[in-house]
Amino acid sequence: FLPHLVASLEQVEQSYIMVKPDGVQRGLVGEVISRFERKGFKLTGLKLFQCPKELAEEHYKDLKAKSFYPTLIDYITSGPVVCMVWEGVGVVASARKLIGSTNPLQAEPGTIRGDLAVQTGRNVIHGSDSPENGKRETALWFKEGELCEWTPAQAPWLME
Ligand code: GDP
Ligand code: MG
Repeated sequence: FLPHLVASLEQVEQSYIMVKPDGVQRGLVGEVISRFERKGFKLTGLKLFQCPKELAEEHYKDLKAKSFYPTLIDYITSGPVVCMVWEGVGVVASARKLIGSTNPLQAEPGTIRGDLAVQTGRNVIHGSDSPENGKRETALWFKEGELCEWTPAQAPWLME
């Protein structure tokens, strides 16, 4: 194990990132993965998955009272999603920046939603909003044994 990685182990966060059904249907999976790879975060989980209704409801339970909730559940379960876990120091906040504002018309150019989407109801991607939710959502979408712990060859070239 490389000493510089051990030193920052408690600071390592997980973000649950998901390409939503519109992103999969529009062929944007590679584009999204590429942006996270190029940034330098570490991929520890990845799968194409047809989300059952119960899981979508659990994932979005905080939004249950919202008027758009039924259409949100229909949207997320309408086709396969690509589920990912990205790890790194500060990955949760950084991923939210890479993703951009919830409403793609307000998302900055250069962000995923700013570059690739026009409507809140078709905003291509999900990203955890806190390190706690990163852990919660990772446990919700991935079973034990589906995640890989590994040291990328480029690690010493990303972190001093
Ligand atoms: P996020 O964290 O940026 O994804 O945004 P929220 O946690 O506030 O909402 C979760 C998801 O619900 C969003 O990404 C949208 O897919 C959807 N959503 C939020 N607000 C609206 C809305 O006003 N209308 C519709 N149709 N969907 C919404
Ligand atoms: Mg959210």
